[in-house]
Amino acid sequence: MSPTQIVLATHNAHKVVELTRILGPALDGLELVAYDGPEPVEDGATFQENALIKARAAAAHTGLPAIADDSGICVDALGGAPGIHSARYAGTRVDTDNVAHLLAQLGDSTDRAAQFACAAAFVVGDEEWVELALWPGTVLIEPVGGGGFGYDPIFKPEGLSVSAAELRPDEKNAISHRAQAFALLMPHVRTRLIEG
Ligand code: IMP
Repeated sequence: MSPTQIVLATHNAHKVVELTRILGPALDGLELVAYDGPEPVEDGATFQENALIKARAAAAHTGLPAIADDSGICVDALGGAPGIHSARYAGTRVDTDNVAHLLAQLGDSTDRAAQFACAAAFVVGDEEWVELALWPGTVLIEPVGGGGFGYDPIFKPEGLSVSAAELRPDEKNAISHRAQAFALLMPHVRTRLIEG
């Protein structure tokens, strides 16, 4: 019997790599397939709504069960910005532009508390689940480290003395907002697709 397929609803190559690593062991025989269909308009007001919008679109287009995430960085001193607008905060989708814009917005503020947020969604037919996880930390004065993506070089996770971009992939993937959100989501996926 061929394995049950599940489509990963993201076109972000960095996220595909990270999620494939994160989900590897948890897939438990499910086959993860990349999504190359049309991208929906992400017009939700929350990470959870946008994750569901992406998963619903991929499930409808492929006819397969779908998982998706929506994520971003929320900075306390900026009232939670950029939040769901993280990917285009500077007006472009370029990571270094977004990082420079965030540092400029924050200026020399001494309140540099922030958190990465990730909502992970699973849609099969008309059934849906969504889970949210946060990864607290602080925004550095300048970028440090060459790993990761997005805002990783300016994010120092709580309890660590290095930026997220200085962590090895396996270190980041053990503790990140994305890892935590999918750890909460995967039991629903397994119950519905493997044990159900
Ligand atoms: P999304 O693809 O709409 O979920 O946009 C997420 C955006 O938030 C990315 O483009 C990054 O700018 C930022 N982001 C989300 N997760 C991370 C992470 O793990 N590290 C660094 N930046 C992230």
